Amino acid sequence: MTDTLTPVLSDNWDQERSWTLEAYESTGGYGALRTALGMAPDDLISLVKDSGLRGRGGAGFPTGMKWGFIPQDNPKPKYLVVNADESEPGTCKDMPLMMASPHTLVEGVIISAFAIRAEHAFIYVRGEVLHVIRRLQRAVQEAYLAGHIGKDIHGTGYNLEVTVHAGAGAYICGEETALLDSLEGRRGQPRLRPPFPAVAGLYSSPTVINNVESIASVPVIVRNGADWFGSMGTEKSKGMTLYSLSGHVTRPGQYEAPLGITLRQLLEVAGGVREGHELKFWTPGGSSTPILTAAHLDVPLDYEGVGAAGSMLGTKALQIFDETTCVVRATLRWTEFYKHESCGKCTPCREGTWWLVQTLARLEKGQGTEADLEKVLDQCDNILGRSFCALADGAVSPIASSIEYFRDEYVAHLEHGGCPFDPAASTLFA
Ligand code: NAD
Repeated sequence: MTDTLTPVLSDNWDQERSWTLEAYESTGGYGALRTALGMAPDDLISLVKDSGLRGRGGAGFPTGMKWGFIPQDNPKPKYLVVNADESEPGTCKDMPLMMASPHTLVEGVIISAFAIRAEHAFIYVRGEVLHVIRRLQRAVQEAYLAGHIGKDIHGTGYNLEVTVHAGAGAYICGEETALLDSLEGRRGQPRLRPPFPAVAGLYSSPTVINNVESIASVPVIVRNGADWFGSMGTEKSKGMTLYSLSGHVTRPGQYEAPLGITLRQLLEVAGGVREGHELKFWTPGGSSTPILTAAHLDVPLDYEGVGAAGSMLGTKALQIFDETTCVVRATLRWTEFYKHESCGKCTPCREGTWWLVQTLARLEKGQGTEADLEKVLDQCDNILGRSFCALADGAVSPIASSIEYFRDEYVAHLEHGGCPFDPAASTLFA
């Protein structure tokens, strides 16, 4: 471990049977819950606001502010929904967190639900990850038996039910309103916003939807205070967070460090780009964010720093690609993913992603002309900002940026009459 890292959420991941209630409580787990239950809910909301915690699902919306939007004079029930449908390519932080320390999330759920005065919380987990779902269900059951969930929690008069719900494996259901439709038993497709879920969410009731890592960060904030949390990170992007490093990196995995760290620093801890190779391009937040290059190694990995570099921090999924990777092939693979996952509700996304794949596939095969490059950029322009949700915006992000940085490589495909790269060298594309 080096000074670069700040293991907080991941601090207990190496503990023996870290996922059990016994292990979690042996290191002070559920202590924050007892503290929180002794506080006024509004003070908890203020604490989270003061901490500067921003949504870790990708968008970075201030968590405390979102909680503050819940209209407490609305007589309808309030709901807390945890978005555990982690599916962004390259993103793998919430799943390991729930596997290693599900009680961190469960404790965060109870505190957060108490703060917004919800009496029912749902954890919506991606359907494919049965082992995660089982582990989470077991943790919720343990928390019920220990009296942390249920009726009159620890004699405070506060009641809370927690339901672990398995999705059916659709990327779109990670979009918050599609998730709500799916949870209500309908086909998961996005709703128009506004109204935002805080006003009309699950069953048209005020609903807070937060990512797993955001909710899991709440107990440590209650335990250590807003100033402690704000002492890490940058002025506008506070706290520690989980970065997922994957691809051509010596030691891929989860690295917990302050917001504002750079990829150069993280690569030093992760053993660098695989031996004998050099960095060519990378994604700061999975494939829904514009790609960056070796020129961006010192960009601070926070919302402002990555934004200024022309991309987005997103899910902090740092996918690393070395010089053996064909950027056109990588971009085509991502675009095929978005085409497959488009829910079909709106035309720009349904039709647009199909057209993008057609044009990119032609370019990748070295067919067509240089005019196809302008065509694909035009298609991107006609999709960006015109779809129902962020899926289509995500789809165009790597395309436009890959052409910006690697136009020569696209042209080389045309001149070569196909891909000039040896597909076996990259190891990433079978
Ligand atoms: P968004 O910026 O539209 O909204 C972020 C959150 O803030 C939402 O919960 C929204 O309800 C709330 N919000 C925003 N404005 C509000 C207002 N005026 N009043 C009340 N609430 C308000 O972003 P989004 O479309 O929800 O999410 C896009 C992000 O999702 C991208 O940044 C991407 O990185 C991320 N993403 C993550 C995954 C994953 O697997 N974790 C997958 C795909 C995309």
